This record gives sequence, structure tokens and C-alpha cells, in this order.
Amino acid sequence: MNPFNELGIREDIVNAITELGFENPTPIQESAIPVLLSGSNDFVGLAQTGTGKTAAFGLPLLELIDYKKNFPQALILCPTRELCLQISNDVKNYAKNLPNVNVVAVYGGANIVNQLRDIKRGVHIVVATPGRMKDILNRKAIDFSEVKYVVLDEADEMLNMGFQEDIDEILSTTPKTKKTWLFSATMPREVRAIAQNYMTDPKELTMGTKNTGNVNIEHEYYIVKARDKYAAFKRIVDYNPDIFGIVFCRTKIETQEIAESLVKDGYNADALHGDLSQQQRDKVMKRYRDRSLQLLIATDVAARGIDVNEVTHVINYSLPDEIANYTHRSGRTGRAGKSGISIAIINSRETGKIRQIEKQIGKSFTKAEVPTGFDVVEKQLFGLIHKVHNVEVNETQIEQYLPRIMAEFVDLSKEDIIKRFVSLEFNRFLDYYKGARDLNAGADDRNSERGERGERSERGGRGTSEGFTRLFINLGAVDDFTRGDLLGYICNNTGITGRSVGKIDMKGVFSFFEVETEFVEKVTEAFKPIDFHGRDVRIEVSGDAPEGGERRSSSGGERRSGGGGYGGGERRSGGGERRERSSGGGYGGGERKSGGSRERTGGAGGNSGGGFRDFSGKRRDDKKDGGSNRGGGYGGGGGRRGDR
Ligand code: AMP
Repeated sequence: MNPFNELGIREDIVNAITELGFENPTPIQESAIPVLLSGSNDFVGLAQTGTGKTAAFGLPLLELIDYKKNFPQALILCPTRELCLQISNDVKNYAKNLPNVNVVAVYGGANIVNQLRDIKRGVHIVVATPGRMKDILNRKAIDFSEVKYVVLDEADEMLNMGFQEDIDEILSTTPKTKKTWLFSATMPREVRAIAQNYMTDPKELTMGTKNTGNVNIEHEYYIVKARDKYAAFKRIVDYNPDIFGIVFCRTKIETQEIAESLVKDGYNADALHGDLSQQQRDKVMKRYRDRSLQLLIATDVAARGIDVNEVTHVINYSLPDEIANYTHRSGRTGRAGKSGISIAIINSRETGKIRQIEKQIGKSFTKAEVPTGFDVVEKQLFGLIHKVHNVEVNETQIEQYLPRIMAEFVDLSKEDIIKRFVSLEFNRFLDYYKGARDLNAGADDRNSERGERGERSERGGRGTSEGFTRLFINLGAVDDFTRGDLLGYICNNTGITGRSVGKIDMKGVFSFFEVETEFVEKVTEAFKPIDFHGRDVRIEVSGDAPEGGERRSSSGGERRSGGGGYGGGERRSGGGERRERSSGGGYGGGERKSGGSRERTGGAGGNSGGGFRDFSGKRRDDKKDGGSNRGGGYGGGGGRRGDR
């Protein structure tokens, strides 16, 4: 028997939700549905967005309504127009096999006449934002005297947005006998007061800990100097080529500025804030939902109720003024059982605020290091390799060219060909990040404080510490090692303690670590008989700079783009709508248009314009290909990125 049937949901609804991919109830559905189906309780559910709460209340409502009676029996109030539309669509989808179910969405910023007409036709379930609902009630256009169930969804958000009075007024038009179901991600005093004022002995259900962030979300913070914030942010984005993120700023102006700078630097970003018209906001949101936009730069208010699954990262470009808002921000990722990362880019004075947030969400942050230029290069390189490996080959199209291609390569071995293809991109990555600075706050001090060690962050510093020797090991990040893992691995296999290990510099297929010079022999000897998954572990004393190794210079300075660089293809933007399409031509010079100004981009080494997408043959709007969204990950089209 289907588990939803077992919870008491009828066949027609189960069939509809099965089509939506609901095979098993989420924890909140499992606990809430039986309680709500009884129809006899008030209810408080403390649940994050993304936990499946819409179905947790939507399915019982659909079971409890008497469709023969053509008047409003359920009212769902929620904070934003986006959420309102989302909920009404979801409920309609759950009900699609039931005859005569009328669900009407009522929200501001849209023509009220149409909404009044829909109400007049007959409605069982009203989904509404408080402002517009009050307006319609004032016009006496709806009668709530037979309402049996009121759902207050995202109650904390509604109160944050100042809807308390509207809610009071709306609820006063519903019968005293109705049942109220309240859902909230957090439980501040004001929400608690609603529960006390409007409910009788509500059943309470907490998913996770009170005020706790979603367990699927990892929290990280980066400490940078104010002047490096934007560059560090871009580095983090570059390090995550498949990012699909929401970036939170504190003000509308900051939101707009960051979005504009990103677009100028060739990223696929746009802003969402309160100064935009509803139409503009809808357009931006549509593009984001469609994943033709990779980074959504938003204010807290504008991002309320954004309900997009598969957001990989939330980035707090600025921390929120209100600590409670951090939960709302981070809750935009890690939805529907997916994992997500919430990042805060802060300055050293803000660590106290991180500690406060940790207390509030009941989870610790990890202090992360802004990736080095080398890290980014490596990540992008292996991203490229992975894509080449997995690319779908269009056999019919490529076939006609194969004899000529093969003839060109006849004198090259497989290894040579691979090296050359990879170098086509790799040379450019390297060139691009040549001299990229360490953007972590305190990096300069750290670099000069040789001998400092012990902290995870310091293990990542540069230059060999006094009294230590730098060793090469042929294990790295691709072997699923973190710095901590590698430290443990070294200590366990050699018997030396962590204090005798200095900086650890994780790379892809290899790493470097320092040991106190007196232990060098002990370490190299200890590893001689050891193999890692059948591969001999190799330890060697390293020169100061490894072959093809660190490309950073302390004077470095961020590189301005020009030549080389990411992207490629053609990029147009203007009139508020940006379009991207590939130049359709492999590696030949890309072209970029932006806001009327036009750049012809040559690209270093004459192989611009390609980028990952062209390389891998993927379409530019391929939704799965995050890199492609911002013009093809690495690759030509030079002139694209600014300060890195
Ligand atoms: P919600 O918290 O209601 O916004 O739901 C978050 C996402 O999870 C939505 O995309 C739902 O379609 C999806 N979802 C809800 N319940 C289930 C379920 N039982 N199985 C799979 N997906 C679900």
C-alpha cells in the first residue's frame, strides 16, 4: 500500500502526488497529516521551508473539504505573492484528479478584478497574502462565515513584514469554531502570541530543533578585508563552477551594485529588490527558476518566500542586521532533502555575529579559506576533465568530420592529444590566475609569520616554516582527503603528533605538508611500505615551489581580465534582459555585448570563445550545466572578468 494511502489520503490524490514524484512522506508530512486529518485540532508546526509542509497541510485540507458546498471552507495566508502562487499551484496539482475543486489565489500586484471574478465563480480554498485579502474583505466580496480551516504559513515572515493587524482583521471575519494551523520556521515571541491568542490547546510539532537551520545545510564563513570582499566572493563563485546561488545584500543599492559589477565581469547574475516593478521582479524570478540565471542578488525582503529547489549556495555578501533573518536566508538552500551550503563573507570584526548566529541556529560554522588562484584553476581543470569524460557525443553530426580530425591527429599518441586538449584550457586558467593574491584576511601576516602553525587556516599558509621541511605526498583532494584527514593520516601512519606537522597544502592529486625537520626521515620511511587503495604512497622532500605549482606572488595583486579568462561565446545584455548564446564555433574569438557597449574579445593564445560548453558540446542553456550559465566556465571570450 502506498504510504500516503496509509496516512489516510485518498487514491485520487495519491495518484496525483505520485506523478509529482512524492513516493514517501517527508517527516513533517508523516507526523502532521494524521493529526490534521482529524480536523479537530488547532496546530502549530515549527518547520523550515523545503520540508514538504505545503503538502503537510494541503493534503489534509483537500480531504476535509466538502466540495458539494460551494463556499470558502479553507483560507491559507502566506507572506508573499510568490509563495501564494506556489501554494495555490501545488494544491491545484494535488487536487487535479478530484472533480470541482476550486482554489483561488489572491495577492497584491495583480489585477484585483480578475481575482474578484474568480471568487464570484465559487471557491473552496483561498490562498492569499494578507494585504490583498483584507482589501477584498473590505469590499465585502467574500464571505468567510463558513470557513473551517485557516492556515497561517510562514507566520514569522508575515509578522516580520508587518501583517499582524491585517491578519487580526482577516481572522475576525472567520468563525470562532474554525481550526487554525500555524507553520513557522522560527518561533519568536510574536508568533507564540498568535498561537496563544487564536488557538485552543494546539497540537505542536517541531521538525528539528526550535529556530534551527535545516540539517542539510552546511554553514561556512570566510574572513576577508573589506576591500577584498568582492574579489573573494568572485573567487568563491569561480571555485564552484556549478553554483546556482542566491546572494544576499543588506541594501537595495548594494544589491544593484553587486549585480551590475558581476554582469560587467561576465557572470550570469541579476538583482531582485524592492525598487523593481512587480513585472521586473517576476521576470527576474522566472529566469532564475528556469536556471537561465545563475546568481540571484537579493535583499531580504525581495527574497522572502522564494521557493526554488536545488539552490546550491546561499551567500551572505553582507550578514543580515537581524540575526533571525539568517535562518530565512539559509533556508533557501538545502530544500527537498538536498544538501546546501550557506556562506558568510565577513570581516574580522564580525566573528562575534557568527557566534550569535551559531547559537540561534544551534549549528557551528566552519571557517573556510578563500580559494587560492591555484585552487580555482585546479577545480576548473578537473571540472573540465569530468565534463569531457561525460559529454554526450553527437555521433551523426561528428561523423562527417572524423576522418579529417583523425588525419590531423595521426602523428599524436592518445596521451599527447589529451595533454593538448587540456592545455588549450589549462594554459589559459594558469595565465588568468597568475599572481592571484591570497584574499584571506591576515594572509600577509601569516605569510610572514613563518613557524606559526597548529590552526587549520594556518596550515594552508605559504612558505616553509622555520625548523620544518616541506614534503610532497601523492595524495590529495581527489582522494577525498581534507586537510584534517591528511593530518590524521600522516600522524596515524608515522606516530608523530599533530604538533610536528606544519602547514598542509592540499592540491588535487597531490599535496604538500610540512614536518619538523628532525622527523623527515621517520615520515618518509614510515610511508615506504604503505599503499592507498593499491597505489604506493610516495613522499618526497619538496623544493620550495613545486613543478607547475603555486602561481601566487606575494606582491601579486589581482589580475585584471583581458586576454584569457573565463567565458567566451557571445554575451549580450541590455534592456534589462540578458541573453547568452554560444558563438557556435568552438574556440574562435568570442564576442560580448553588454548594455550597448560591445567588446571584441581576442582571448589569449587565440583559443578564446570556447569555454567548457563549446568544449563539451553542451548547449549554452543546458540547465544542468551551471558553468554554462555564466558563459561557459573557463574559456575564451577574454576581456570578461575583472579583478580577481
Ligand atoms: P515545501 O516545503 O512544501 O515547499 O516543499 C519543498 C519541495 O519538496 C517541493 O518542491 C515539493 O514538491 C517537494 N516535496 C514535498 N513533499 C514531498 C515528498 N513527499 N516527496 C518528494 N518531494 C516532496
